[in-house]
Amino acid sequence: MLTDAYARRFSYLRLSVTEICNFRCSYCLPDGNDCDSRSGELSLSEIKRLVTAFAKLGTRKIRITGGEPSLRKDLTEIIAICKAVPGIEKVALTTNGYRLKRDALAWQEAGLDAVNVSVDSLDADTFHLVTGQDKLADILEGIAHAKAIGIKQVKINTVLLKQHNALALPDFLKFVKQQDIALRFIELMRTGDNADFYQRQHLSGASIQQQLLDQGWQLNVKAKTDGPALEYSHADYQGRIGLIMPYSKDFCADCNRLRVSSVGQLYLCLFTDSHQELRSLLQSDDSAPLMRFLQQAVQGKAFSHQLQQDYSGSTRHLAQIGG
Ligand code: SAM
Repeated sequence: MLTDAYARRFSYLRLSVTEICNFRCSYCLPDGNDCDSRSGELSLSEIKRLVTAFAKLGTRKIRITGGEPSLRKDLTEIIAICKAVPGIEKVALTTNGYRLKRDALAWQEAGLDAVNVSVDSLDADTFHLVTGQDKLADILEGIAHAKAIGIKQVKINTVLLKQHNALALPDFLKFVKQQDIALRFIELMRTGDNADFYQRQHLSGASIQQQLLDQGWQLNVKAKTDGPALEYSHADYQGRIGLIMPYSKDFCADCNRLRVSSVGQLYLCLFTDSHQELRSLLQSDDSAPLMRFLQQAVQGKAFSHQLQQDYSGSTRHLAQIGG
């Protein structure tokens, strides 16, 4: 099992498959892609070798992310490859939902267990303003479709933005009232490129938390394998509301995840200033050298990010590593 110097065990790999994105979210890629080459992206055989080595070291869950992973034409094959690796129990995807309606069934048939879809506003104009894409209705239909075909876990990610959605809690609550879905608010994180935007828009999840508690929402008990989200339920609502608060105390204490970028770089944290190149270790089916490298590398994982000190490492935006 991959275990670091603080006895944290890593059973979860977030694997980026492309840096390219077709949305222009104001907090991430407001001017669109800042890289236009896809040539260095990991191939299917490199992905298989990578996931195999991680699985032999105890990884049980893979989340495929990006950039926008559905821009890879071979995404369905990537899902199937990850799912077929012995030891991998859960394959999840994070997407802007652009291809959900068209491809969700193929992804499910390939073995996709869970999908998180980013929806920062339930108001079509605000959604357009924040993402640069006038596609809210289409994406909501995609979410309904993913649920209807029986993808086991469909969740929504909403980045909390002071100006764009902070006052819209009633709309989000209405959305989860009649449907069994988890909607998670993620606190906006500062990255190298978004310092001004962050200053204007960051809002602590604590304000939402207080409103939920005031309205009778109750904190669910966490399962051991759960991520950092605090999830709340309410008897009058079918859905759940989650809060991901990376600026809160001890957020990293039970970190269970590692990241590999679309070009095969190992990131021990989303907000570090260093990474390790894995590509040369992905050229042979012999997992042993890569496994040794990973076991050694995780010893260098810092106890915590330093976002509270306004330090976000060399991360320009989350599409660069895979948010
Ligand atoms: N394109 C996919 C998507 O839209 O979900 C996957 C990649 S995106 C980088 C992954 C998640 O990170 C999205 O939910 C996005 O809203 C979130 N994200 C990006 N930049 C962020 C930031 N600075 N702070 C908080 N969340 C961020």
